[in-house]
Amino acid sequence: MNRRNMIKTSVATFMALTTASFAEGESKEKKTKTKKSDNPRVVVVGGGWSGLSMAKSVKSFVPNAEVTLVEKRDHFFSCPVSNPWLFDMVDTEFMVHSFIDAAKTHDYTFLQATATGLDQKKNILNTTEGDLNYDYLVFATGIEYDYDVWTHGDKKLENELRSTYPAGFIGGSEHLTLKRKIKNFKGGNFIITVPSGNYRCLPAPYERAALLADHFKRNKIDGKVYLLDANNSITIKEEGFASAFKKLHKDHLVHLSDAQILEFDLEKKEVETDFDTIKFEDASFYPNVKAPKLLEDLGLTIKTAYNRVEANLDVYSNKFKGTKNIYGCGDIRPMGFSKSGNTAYTEGANVARVIANEIYGKKSTWASPTTVCISILSKDPIHEISLVSEYKYGSKGETQFNSTFTDEKWETNGLGAQKTQYAWAQGMFDNMFYA
Ligand SMILES: Cc1cc2nc3c(=O)[nH]c(=O)nc-3n(C[C@H](O)[C@H](O)[C@H](O)COP(=O)(O)OP(=O)(O)OC[C@H]3O[C@@H](n4cnc5c(N)ncnc54)[C@H](O)[C@@H]3O)c2cc1C
Repeated sequence: MNRRNMIKTSVATFMALTTASFAEGESKEKKTKTKKSDNPRVVVVGGGWSGLSMAKSVKSFVPNAEVTLVEKRDHFFSCPVSNPWLFDMVDTEFMVHSFIDAAKTHDYTFLQATATGLDQKKNILNTTEGDLNYDYLVFATGIEYDYDVWTHGDKKLENELRSTYPAGFIGGSEHLTLKRKIKNFKGGNFIITVPSGNYRCLPAPYERAALLADHFKRNKIDGKVYLLDANNSITIKEEGFASAFKKLHKDHLVHLSDAQILEFDLEKKEVETDFDTIKFEDASFYPNVKAPKLLEDLGLTIKTAYNRVEANLDVYSNKFKGTKNIYGCGDIRPMGFSKSGNTAYTEGANVARVIANEIYGKKSTWASPTTVCISILSKDPIHEISLVSEYKYGSKGETQFNSTFTDEKWETNGLGAQKTQYAWAQGMFDNMFYA
C-alpha cells in the first residue's frame, strides 16, 4: 500500500468512527465498527510518551496496520521540562503539541475519547465515542495517584489535597495551578513531597525543589522549601542533588529523609511526620502512584514490591497475563524500570516490535528500554546532572540494572551551558509529533 492509500485508510477509519459516534438514535452495539478488515487493527489507549511511540512504531513496522490512538485529552502537555516551565525557563509553546499532528505525520488515526471498558471475548474496546474492534490492544494509560496511602479512604481529605495542593505529576491543569501558586507565593514554608515506591520520575521532585529554592533566592523571597522525602535517602543522582542542595540552595531548602506524612491538618496548615510537625504557607503534595482504575476494574492489575496497583504484565513480552492480544507499556508496568518518558518511549517501540513479530509469525527477543534523565539544578546559570540506564532481568524475572552512567559534577560538566534537557526534549517531541 502506498502512502496516499495509507492516509486514505486512516481517514476512512476515522470517518467510520466519528460517523458511528454521532449517528443519532443508534444503540452502542450498533455503533461498533464490526467489519473485519484484512489489515491488522491495533488500538492504542493513551497518547503519552509510550502510546505515541507505540502508535508510530507499529505503523512503521507494519505499514498496512490500521492503528488508532485513543486519547482522552485534547492536546499533549509534556511532563518532562515542566519543572523549568514552572519558572518561565521555557514557554508554553515548547510544552504543548497536537495529537492531530502526530497522527498525520505517522499515518495513524487519532480518536479523542476515553476508554471505558472491554469485551475480551469479542475483542471490543468501549469508549465514550463508541466501540472499537481490535486485533491487538495496547494500554499505555500512565499513572493515577494513590492518595489512600495518606487518606485511608477519607474522600473529603483526598479532594482537598487534589484541589488545593495538586501534585503536578500528571500533565495539564495541575501544572497551571502550581505555576500560579508559585507566582503568587509571598514567603514562608512551601512543602514538596517525595513519595515511596516506584513513583513517576524519580528525580523530578528534587529538581522541582531545587528550582523553587533557586526562585526564592533570585527573587529575594523569604521562603523555604521543605522537601519531605518518604525515602531514607535521595532516590537518584544523590551526589549531584545533595551537593547542589548544600552549595546552591542551603538558605532556601530543607531536605528531610524518612519523612512520610502521617497526618494532615489543613485548617492549621500543618503536617505531621514521625519526627516533626511542619507548618506551611503552601504546598504541592505528591502521593504514591498506581496504574489507572480502569485496569483495576478490568482485573488487569497486581500488587508489586514497588506499588499497590500495577499492570499485570509478562515482563518479557509486555502482554497482560491471561490475555491473548492485550499489551501494556509505559508507567503502568510492574517492572522496576524508572517511570520516565525516555523509558516509556523506548519501551513503546520495543513492544511495537513484539506485536509486529506476532503479526508476521516471528519470534521476539526481549530488549531493554533506555532511561535518559537530565535534571536542572538552577536557572542562571543553568546547571545540570544526567543519568543513562539500561536493564536486565534476574533468574526470577526481577528487574536489575545492566548499566548506569551518571554525570553529577554539575560545577564542571558543562551540560547546563548546552541546555541538554531542552535539546533532549526537542528531539523526543520531533520523534513523537513531527518526524
Ligand atoms: C515534573 C515531571 C518531570 C519529568 N521529567 C522527565 C524527564 O526529564 N525525562 C523523562 O524521561 N521523564 C520525565 N518525566 C516522566 C514522564 O513524564 C512519564 O514517565 C511519562 O509521561 C510516562 O509515559 P506514559 O505514556 O506511561 O504515560 P503518560 O505520558 O501519562 O500518558 C498516558 C496517557 O493516557 C491517557 N489516558 C489515560 N487513561 C485513558 C483512558 N481511559 N482513555 C484514553 N486515554 C487515557 C492520558 O490522558 C495520558 O495522555 C517527568 C514527569 C514529571 C511529572
